[in-house]
Amino acid sequence: MFRTVESQLSHQAVTAELKAEFLQYDFEQLRTFCVLVLGVSIALWFLFDLVVSFEGGQGFTFKSIFLLALLCGLVACVPLIRKAQHFYVLNLIYVSVYCLSARLVIDGVPVDLQPLWLTLTASSVVFLASVLPHNNYSYFSVQALTWGLLNPFVGGIPVLELKGTLILFYVLFLGAITAYTFVRLSDGKLHNYLMAKLLIEQAYVDTLTQIPNRRAFMTRTTARLETAVPGQRRYLAMVDIDYFKKINDSFGHDIGDVVLQRVAANIGAEVSEFEFARLGGEEFGIYLWDMTPDDAQQRMEKLLRTVRETPTDHPATISIGLARLDDGATLNQALIKADQALYDSKHDGRNRCTYVE
Ligand code: GH3
Ligand code: MG
Ligand code: MG
Repeated sequence: MFRTVESQLSHQAVTAELKAEFLQYDFEQLRTFCVLVLGVSIALWFLFDLVVSFEGGQGFTFKSIFLLALLCGLVACVPLIRKAQHFYVLNLIYVSVYCLSARLVIDGVPVDLQPLWLTLTASSVVFLASVLPHNNYSYFSVQALTWGLLNPFVGGIPVLELKGTLILFYVLFLGAITAYTFVRLSDGKLHNYLMAKLLIEQAYVDTLTQIPNRRAFMTRTTARLETAVPGQRRYLAMVDIDYFKKINDSFGHDIGDVVLQRVAANIGAEVSEFEFARLGGEEFGIYLWDMTPDDAQQRMEKLLRTVRETPTDHPATISIGLARLDDGATLNQALIKADQALYDSKHDGRNRCTYVE
């Protein structure tokens, strides 16, 4: 099953729209995680600041309190953000403030240790960013910004000396490995998202007719029934192909399938703005609302005509049971009522619609 879906996925083009939908989903899923990661990074900076301020004698100044408040304020905005794109911008602002704050603290560290601390801090930032929801552009912007603001060579250590060379290699290695991890992780998440989307779509679509299936109908119609305002006019129609067994017996199962597809397409075309589905076998359900009983019956008469008059080598007719629903009616009650009306249509000679109040 997974292999089949995977091969279908490999043929699917990932459009910019689909990618944007995934990025938005990814952000929404990880919003709380973002707050946690950014919160932990503030705690680390604060601890580092305290150690350098008191042990290192730099002094805990008003500047520290201001930066701490600014960082906390930026993180507090994350739960309020709705769009992934806005998070990318906020994250870039956060990284800029964080790197500048880190630089100020590192100024209080002994000079010969500063390149190491700059490297350590920048590495931590690019690593943490790699697990947050980003698009490629925003992640690589974070990398560029971080290495730019926390450049370990800014103090002038020679690259060609042992210490400089070691730091350079470490920076290159860590920058590359985190970028690679980010890209692979994003690709994996995108793949899983597309697969889940495809499986969910398939779970709600009838394979043969490509219209919604019974599960979709039950879920959507139940939701509509539960949220319907009292007094709203609502109807449930049950549709059944007449003498369908005969069509199968006379022309074969494959032709029977073609007839099913055609009737499904007719229903889709006639009541596209309402809920409709193949409930099973050669039975379909339609849920209609906000129309008079006359209009509902006319819609069903039109559907009868369309099915009957569609030019085809294998003509068929349908019977319909249309039931008006009372306030508070459950879907099961509605199905039973419509089914009884359908039974009357069959009993009265088929190719007709029976309406019950
Ligand atoms: P009536 O007018 O009373 O509805 O008669 P009918 O022959 O349509 O009713 P019946 O319930 O006896 O027959 C339904 C048939 O639908 C039986 C079954 O083989 C066929 N059927 C159910 N699902 C499918 C399907 O997916 N494809 C095909 N080709 N036939 C199907
Ligand atoms: Mg039937
Ligand atoms: Mg039938």
